[in-house]
Amino acid sequence: MLTRLIVLPLFCVIILLSFSSASHAEQIVTAAETTTTNTVLQRLLKRADGHIQQAQYEQALELLNKAYENSDNLEDQSIRNDILNSMASVYYNTGQLEQAYRYFTELVKLDKANNDKSALSVSLFNLGHVNASRKQFSKADKNFKASLKISRQLADDVGIASTLKAMGVNAQAQSKLKTAKKYLRESLHLFIAIHDKTQAARVQRHLGDIAHEQGHYEQGLEHYLAALSVLQKQPFSKALMRTHRGLSASYEKLVNLDQALEHHHRYASLQQQLLEHQNKEVTQRLQVQFETQRFAAENEQLALINQQQEQELQHRQSTLKLQYLLIALALVVIALITALWSRSKKHANAMQLLATRDALTGIQNRRSIMQFAMKEWHRSIRFDRPYCCIAIDIDNFKQINDTFGHATGDAVLKLIAQSLNSGLRVTDSLGRVGGEEFLLISIETDLLQAHALAERLRSKIEMLQHPHQPDKSITISIGITALNNQVSLEELIAQADEALYQSKNKGRNCVSVYPDIES
Ligand code: GH3
Ligand code: MG
Ligand code: MG
Repeated sequence: MLTRLIVLPLFCVIILLSFSSASHAEQIVTAAETTTTNTVLQRLLKRADGHIQQAQYEQALELLNKAYENSDNLEDQSIRNDILNSMASVYYNTGQLEQAYRYFTELVKLDKANNDKSALSVSLFNLGHVNASRKQFSKADKNFKASLKISRQLADDVGIASTLKAMGVNAQAQSKLKTAKKYLRESLHLFIAIHDKTQAARVQRHLGDIAHEQGHYEQGLEHYLAALSVLQKQPFSKALMRTHRGLSASYEKLVNLDQALEHHHRYASLQQQLLEHQNKEVTQRLQVQFETQRFAAENEQLALINQQQEQELQHRQSTLKLQYLLIALALVVIALITALWSRSKKHANAMQLLATRDALTGIQNRRSIMQFAMKEWHRSIRFDRPYCCIAIDIDNFKQINDTFGHATGDAVLKLIAQSLNSGLRVTDSLGRVGGEEFLLISIETDLLQAHALAERLRSKIEMLQHPHQPDKSITISIGITALNNQVSLEELIAQADEALYQSKNKGRNCVSVYPDIES
């Protein structure tokens, strides 16, 4: 019970600790992931910016779209705001108004959700511009008004002035000249108040256009000249070009043709410059796109070649593998055949041994000794060489069997056979031809030598120790005959047997020669 009281809370503490550490770890992982994603997105944005600087809009949009897809579900939405702003602006600047509209609308929603008023006023302003470009003037007006309201709340003079200007231009586009004039005048005062001479000059140009449209040519001229005084000190701008156009038209109406012509020339020259500049930009863009495409094609080609080479290599490797496999297989087959061959050879040798050896004594059997006797008989006859045939029989062997048993008989038989065989020359050959009978063929041996050999064998056996009766000796009887007068092998063996019979008759344990010299 006590153990349970201690163990249970301890267990709970461990579980709680592991849970809290797990969630802590999760937090760390999420934070790390967010940081990594933010870094990646920021890098993408930076690269896209680089492309935008070089008017490589397609590449920029590709990167921005990628960043946009990965910026979903981010805790810090400021980066998504930057991505959307860049995307929408690039779409707007490249005339892809549908897309620009879509992303600026999303931006407005995002700013509202973030309650970021300053950003919202800018987004509404931009959306208004997209609306105006799409000829949706009333929608544009609505967005500009909303933007203006926020800018006023924020006391953002630049925002107010810019929006009023946009509203004026929008009204002008709808031929609401009075309204346009009202907004533009207000905008002009603000730009002057904040010392933004350029913007003031641009507004003046618009006011010039309106005055001209209303037939107030003198008034128009005043606006244009005010715009010109600022714009001509600056590098080339469309506003300057349009100012010259306005001046030319105004002077024409006021019949100051000299000035009209002068400004028309300047207008035409600036238009030419603008055209050249635009053409140059298009050429550059196309060049970049062409190079990119060429590189891509070259890369694709290289990738294809690489792939082919890889496939070839793989093919070669697999062929090589197959070759190794076949070689290994061949080696296995060779090893198997060799093993089988050596086994069958061993088997054949064993069979050969079995076929030529006597199972009990280990010396040659009847068939083998008879083969040898016959072969050597032919050779001796042909070359007239000495050849002796020696028949050996154990004396009173039946007694040994009867007295000590068949097994002892076998042992004695083996002992005698091996003893006889061990003292022979290479030209002598011994075999067991019957139960306890042996035949010894001695080639290149005359009768005298054969007799000496037989005698030696006889006395050797006599000296053998009897297994059960040490005082008694085992003896053998021997009959010898030598080849002469070309007698047949059968006759020769019969003669040796005859001599053996003589030895038995003489009382055993002796050697007799055929023909019996005594008889
Ligand atoms: P002799 O001196 O006249 O030759 O007398 P013997 O007893 O040797 O003659 P016999 O031919 O009557 O007997 C031969 C015996 O040898 C008969 C047989 O039992 C025995 N014998 C034959 N072959 C074998 C064998 O393989 N093993 C044993 N233990 N005995 C054998
Ligand atoms: Mg016998
Ligand atoms: Mg015998």
